[in-house]
Amino acid sequence: MSTENLTWTVGHVQITRVEEVITYMDASVLMPSFTPDMLDPHRDWLIPHFFSERNDKMALSIHSFVVQSQGRTIVIDTCVGGQDKGLPSDPNFPDRLDAAIEGGLGAVDIVLCTHLHFDHVGWNMRTVNGQRVPTFPNARYLFAKVEVDHTRTDDHMRVLGPSIDPIIDAGMADLVETNHTVTSEVCLLPTPGHTPGHVSVLIESDGESALITGDMTHTPLQFALPDLAASAFDTDSDQSTQTRIDIIERFADSDTLVLGTHFAPPTAGHVKRSGGYVRFA
Ligand SMILES: [Zn+2]
Repeated sequence: MSTENLTWTVGHVQITRVEEVITYMDASVLMPSFTPDMLDPHRDWLIPHFFSERNDKMALSIHSFVVQSQGRTIVIDTCVGGQDKGLPSDPNFPDRLDAAIEGGLGAVDIVLCTHLHFDHVGWNMRTVNGQRVPTFPNARYLFAKVEVDHTRTDDHMRVLGPSIDPIIDAGMADLVETNHTVTSEVCLLPTPGHTPGHVSVLIESDGESALITGDMTHTPLQFALPDLAASAFDTDSDQSTQTRIDIIERFADSDTLVLGTHFAPPTAGHVKRSGGYVRFA
């Protein structure tokens, strides 16, 4: 894991990436229609950051973004947590997050989950002295209402019991619309398809802007190939493809900095059209 936390400034907003783990996997595990020859036109910009030079495995970074806006501290996605659900995790992640946040975990005002998959909600709760407690004791946790409703009908990742219902039962959750305004600089942008209530996060401040993707994309390759869906995990791959097409249409060749929720460092870049392709630069 990296010891340095990447940071970005967008207008008056500060964004810090705090990494839990990076893992390497066959891209076809997430995206069953992936074949390695799809990399060939894109190797120059995908390798070595986003795909391994050695064996074409895809880097999957698991990290939180800590956003400072107007005196509020916002944590976007809480990573895997201490449960064995098929991705690696780091038991020391809350301590590292605590060290990275001015004022520590208790200073977090808002926790925002882009969607309710286990690698985005895992550290909503943690175990301290044998007791399950909210990791961010003074925060409001924002979940999209439609996402919670959907998960009640299909909780195949078993997140409600460990990571969602204890927060709701403690009165710490706000169930919000998928276009909710968090601060006047930070708002949710509905990007459905991976899940029905999936959101990205749009940050606009002092003439600058940034987009935090969530799992609308898992790898920058999906900007070049938007129909390469994570259909192993998407609830609706046609919709996730349409969402990527819409987002590329809106943000390609703009000044908006795009921060990938699963993109390994450098994590952030711009969506650019060049040579007949869309790439991440
Ligand atoms: Zn994910």
